[in-house]
Amino acid sequence: MAPRAVGFPKSNVLKARNNSYLWKLYRARRAKEVDLMKIEPKIRGFICTTAHPVGCEVQLQQQIDKVRKKGPIQGGSKKALIIGASTGYGMASRVALAFGCGADTLGIYFEREAEKGRTATPGFYQSRALEVKAQKEGTYAKSINGDAFSDEIKQQAIATIKQDLGTVDTVIYSLAAPRRVLPKTGEASRSTLKPIGQSFTSKTLDVNSGVVGEIFLEAASEEEVRQTIDVMGGEDWEMWMDALEAAGVLAPGALTVAYSYIGPSITVPVYRNGTIGAAKNHLERTAHKLQAKMQAKGGRAFVSVNKAVVTQASSAIPVMPLYISVLYRVMKEKGVHEGYLEQMDRLFREKLYSGKEIPVDSEGRIRVDDWEMLEDVQKEVERLWPLLETSNVLSLTDIQGYREDFLRLFGFGVEGVDYSADVDDNLI
Ligand code: NAD
Repeated sequence: MAPRAVGFPKSNVLKARNNSYLWKLYRARRAKEVDLMKIEPKIRGFICTTAHPVGCEVQLQQQIDKVRKKGPIQGGSKKALIIGASTGYGMASRVALAFGCGADTLGIYFEREAEKGRTATPGFYQSRALEVKAQKEGTYAKSINGDAFSDEIKQQAIATIKQDLGTVDTVIYSLAAPRRVLPKTGEASRSTLKPIGQSFTSKTLDVNSGVVGEIFLEAASEEEVRQTIDVMGGEDWEMWMDALEAAGVLAPGALTVAYSYIGPSITVPVYRNGTIGAAKNHLERTAHKLQAKMQAKGGRAFVSVNKAVVTQASSAIPVMPLYISVLYRVMKEKGVHEGYLEQMDRLFREKLYSGKEIPVDSEGRIRVDDWEMLEDVQKEVERLWPLLETSNVLSLTDIQGYREDFLRLFGFGVEGVDYSADVDDNLI
C-alpha cells in the first residue's frame, strides 16, 4: 500500500507525499515491478544485467532443433554429468548429449534466481527450460545450482548420481569462473586476464559504442598467474574425477572432456601466453594425468580445443571481441562459421562418438578449432586486423553478428519472441 498523508490542503498533501521517503521507495519498487513485465536488455560493460525468460527458452529450443535436424548421435553417452552446464559450451554440450544422444543428464551450474525487481540470470532460464523439455520426452534431466568448486556440491552431485543414475559414462568440465574458494584452505583465488613477462598494447573494441581503441595490459605478477591457475587450471577437474571415482559412480570406460583454447598470434600475448593460457596449459597437463589414472578401467580423458565464440566468458577477455568480430565475418564469408552449438554437435557426433578412434593432435588434444585455424581464414584476419578503426568497423567486421549473438545469450533479439508482450509472472 502507498503511504498516505493527511490533514494538509490537497496540493501540499501531494507535495509532501511525493517528497516523502516512503512514497519514493514505493514508486521505485513499483517501477521495478513494472520493469519486470516488459523486460529489456540492460547492458553494463560486457555483461547484460537482465535476461528474458521467454527469449531464453525459445533460444534453447532453436539449439535443440539444430541438433535434432542432424539426427540422433548413435552410440553416444547414456548418462552424463556436465559441470558448467547452463550457458555457452557447457549448455551446448548438454543439448547435444540430451537431445542428440538421448542421454540422461545431471547439470551443475552457478546461476542467480529471480529476486523482486530483478530477473534471473539467463543460464537459470535456459536450464529450467532444458529440464522441462527433456523430461517431457522421458529423458532424465536434473540440475544442481551451487558452487562446483566446493566439496559440498561434489558430494551432492555424487549422492544424486547414486540415487538416480547409478553411474555416469561421460563427464564434461566446462567451467569459466572469475573466482574459486580453495576447499582445502578456504582461501579465495581470482583469475586475471593479463600477459605474462611483459606488458601488452593492442587494438580493442567497445562493442556497445563500436569504438576501436587501444588497450594497455600490465604484465601479471607471479601471484596473479598462480591464482588464475587455481581458478581455471585443472586442479578442480581432477578433484571432481577423483571424488567420482572414489564414490564408484564412474561407469567402466568413462570419458571426461574439458575445454581449452589456443587462438591466433593476434591474441597470443593476452590469451595463450597470458595468465589464462598458463591455466589452460595446466588443464591440458591434467588431461594427461587423468588419462593415466583412468586407463586401467578403460577410461579416457581429453581436452578439446574449441573455437572462439561469443559467450559471457569470452566477452570479458580483452581483445577477444574485436578478434571474434573479424573472425565471424571471415568465417561467414567462407561458409565455415560455427556457433557453440555447431561446435559441440561436431565434437560429440564426429569426434567423441563417431565409432572411430578419437582424433587428436601431437599434444593429445581434440581440435574443433580446426576451421578457425585454417590458413586462409587466419591470413584474411591478419590482413584485416591492421586496417581496423572506428570508421570501418561496421564494414570490415561482423560487429553486428557479434552484438546479435551477445543479446541472444540473454534471450533478446530471438526470432519468434514478442518482446512487447508482458512476461507471465510465473516465468520470471
Ligand atoms: P560461459 O560463461 O558461457 O559458461 C560458464 C559456465 O560455468 C556456466 O554454466 C556457469 O554457471 C558455470 N560456472 C561458473 N562458475 C561456477 C561455479 N563456481 N560453480 C558452478 N558453475 C559455475 O563460458 P564458456 O565460454 O562456455 O566457457 C566454458 C569453457 O570453454 C571454459 O573452459 C572456456 O575457457 C572454454 N572455451 C571457451 C571459448 C569461447 O570462445 N567462449 C573457446 C574455447 C574454449
